[in-house]
Amino acid sequence: MFASKAKLSRSVLADLASAATAPLRKDRASLLIARFGIGVTACLAILGAYLIYDLRDGAWRRAETNAQNLLGMIEEAVSRNVVMYDLSLQAAAVRATQPNLIELPPDLRREVLFDNAASAAGLGVIALVDSSGQVQITSDPETTSRHSVADLPEFQRLKADPQAGLVITGPRTSRISGRSIMGLSRPIVKADGTFGGMVSGAIHLSYFQSQFARLRIDPGAHINVFHQDGTLMLRHPYGAGYVGRNVADGPAFLRHREERRGMFVGTSTLDGKDRLYAFANLEGLPLVVNVSTGVDSIRAVWLSKALWIAALILGLICVTLGSMLVLHREMTQRTVAEDSARTANAELSRLALTDSLTGLPNRRRYDAALDEAWQRAVRHREPIALLLLDADHFKRFNDHFGHHRGDAVLQALAACVLQRLAGLDAVACRIGGEEFAVILSGLPDDAVRALADRIRRAVVGLQIAHATDVGGVATISVGLACRVPGPGDDAAALFADADAALYAAKRAGRNRVRAAAHAAPAEPVALTA
Ligand code: GH3
Ligand code: MG
Ligand code: MG
Repeated sequence: MFASKAKLSRSVLADLASAATAPLRKDRASLLIARFGIGVTACLAILGAYLIYDLRDGAWRRAETNAQNLLGMIEEAVSRNVVMYDLSLQAAAVRATQPNLIELPPDLRREVLFDNAASAAGLGVIALVDSSGQVQITSDPETTSRHSVADLPEFQRLKADPQAGLVITGPRTSRISGRSIMGLSRPIVKADGTFGGMVSGAIHLSYFQSQFARLRIDPGAHINVFHQDGTLMLRHPYGAGYVGRNVADGPAFLRHREERRGMFVGTSTLDGKDRLYAFANLEGLPLVVNVSTGVDSIRAVWLSKALWIAALILGLICVTLGSMLVLHREMTQRTVAEDSARTANAELSRLALTDSLTGLPNRRRYDAALDEAWQRAVRHREPIALLLLDADHFKRFNDHFGHHRGDAVLQALAACVLQRLAGLDAVACRIGGEEFAVILSGLPDDAVRALADRIRRAVVGLQIAHATDVGGVATISVGLACRVPGPGDDAAALFADADAALYAAKRAGRNRVRAAAHAAPAEPVALTA
């Protein structure tokens, strides 16, 4: 079965190959087939290109929409959590300035300071830090550590600029909980505007991670939260080695800072891959969030389908072109067969109208040719002439030299006549055994007679030996009739006149030309050339 399939496909391929190498014909059917094939191929190619473009376009539009939607949710989640937490920090920072606060017992002080402190899971302990950097009290009664945070950047920053407002730092490991956090700090500003310490808290990065984990994100997409200074605070899915890196100088991050929000394709500083970025700078916060989707992942969505479509279209194009070539070959073969049949028929017709011995038109063709020439002469009112040529004593020739030599003489006579007719509007036919006819159109009487005599003399000039008792040389007698066809006249009358003239030439002794009685009198002709 496999062998027969292989054989089949080999024969199809051979068909296609021979069709492809067959010379291209330019007949109407072949041109139609070629145009149809090219048209179908072009349509298929356009269809394929459109489908692939549509797939690619759709994949990109979906990726952009998904990134925009996701970005909106991230903005909302991060802003809400940070702002809520900051409200607690602000409240604590204001209360911390009350003068008699220090005299209160710790529990009461904690309650006054951190009354409304956000305490959801994932939100870190808030600590009150004095102006020397020493932790005074925390929102969690369990947390008793009173360590110094004077070395932390937020402390340095707020100490240098008490009007700095909310300072976000990190990511780093919390000294209190030991977990990865984003630090949030607010300054305590004394009544005279000087630095009075800070209120410092944290949001656990795992808290954001768990919120992001609930979102459905495209394969190859990442959620990133940056500090405005370019530090990557958060990344989901988590990328070990990326969080904490600063990408401030990367071209992609610079684009993030040029506008408040936007979308573009750029190269990631983190992994060097091309990505689609949808980004936003959070309102009132020193944070930038983005959703970055790998161009590779977007391409993977449409490329495999596009390859299938391309393969299918290519297959269809091959089938179309193959069918076109096979059809073309069939047409070519059929046309060639028709052509050769037509040629064979034409040859048969030609043979049916040709004398096989001399190659001249035969009697059947002569009848038609005389009729055509007669009609033309009638139409154009021009002269028509008929010469009847008959070999003299030909029976005697055969008897003397044999039938075979006789045949050769007939061929020589035919060639001789044809030679004399070169350049004239004339048809020479063999109309009988040793009888020939020449139909001449448009020649005046005297030219016809002169021509007839030239033929006669040319035959004598061939010097074909004949029996001595009949002159020793083969000759012909010629009877001619010529006229401009008049009313009541016809081709049969022309023939009868020429035949009578031939009879007269024979009777007068042969080897001579005689013109029909009513034609102009013939020139006296010599008996020999
Ligand atoms: P005339 O001068 O009166 O025409 O005499 P003739 O002998 O030519 O005339 P006739 O009609 O008596 O004889 C014609 C001869 O032509 C008879 C025949 O043997 C010969 N002939 C006719 N057709 C052919 C042919 O195809 N080949 C050969 N070799 N001879 C032919
Ligand atoms: Mg004869
Ligand atoms: Mg004869």
